[in-house]
Amino acid sequence: MNLILLTHDDIENDRLARVRDPRRLRHLREVHRATPGDRLTLGVVGGHIGQGELLTLCDQEATFALSPLDQAPPPPLPVHLVLALPRPRMLARTLEHVTALGVKQITLLHTRRVEKSYWMSPELTPEKIHHHLVLGLEQARDTLLPEVTLERGFRPFVEGRLPALLEGRRGLLAHPGMPSACPRGVEAPTLLLVGPEGGFIPWEVERLLEAGCEGIHLGQRILRVETAVTALLARLF
Ligand code: SAH
Repeated sequence: MNLILLTHDDIENDRLARVRDPRRLRHLREVHRATPGDRLTLGVVGGHIGQGELLTLCDQEATFALSPLDQAPPPPLPVHLVLALPRPRMLARTLEHVTALGVKQITLLHTRRVEKSYWMSPELTPEKIHHHLVLGLEQARDTLLPEVTLERGFRPFVEGRLPALLEGRRGLLAHPGMPSACPRGVEAPTLLLVGPEGGFIPWEVERLLEAGCEGIHLGQRILRVETAVTALLARLF
């Protein structure tokens, strides 16, 4: 928690904020080892960042005197990430990593090699997803929550939603063995597709290429989803 992310409910007035949930209180005590008088970085969900002085900290709440929160959050990456739904624990970690890296649009997609049971996981409840996004934002000192969309059918996605997503975006399909290497230094809006642990099946690769995506590879090493996503984002942008 390199930034204490405040919701509008935490803000009493423009000079005072009050944090009451156990997670942030525990973090303030155990990780920051904060004591009254410390100045910490605070941000408002969807808003600006600034400093606050810890006034009080007890088991029930922490209060902060706010200095003007007037710094913009870091710029987002120009990417919409389409991720085949990974297993629940991998999903949790991947959401945190990609949020910390600055992804603001995430689509979780069903593909043939996604286990159907993953769609029933409690990790997919809006509260759990929100929790992992918040951890990613706090890590990276960001305040803008990514938007997460669930696409439970591959064909409806490719035939229905993908054409619109590719309007004004360069579609890049990460798949081992594709002829082109992953580009670097990309600034243009991009749609990046990453497969499940078992990879995209050939039929899915064909549909995505037909729809206008370019196949890209990251070298001979086959990486786990969370490593592949991180390596792809770092190299692309
Ligand atoms: N067993 C699968 C790989 C799955 S890895 C196969 O051989 O196809 C999970 C996902 O991470 C892949 O679908 C791809 O999107 C991405 N990925 C992992 N390693 C990659 C590489 N070397 N090049 C491109 N994409 C990669």
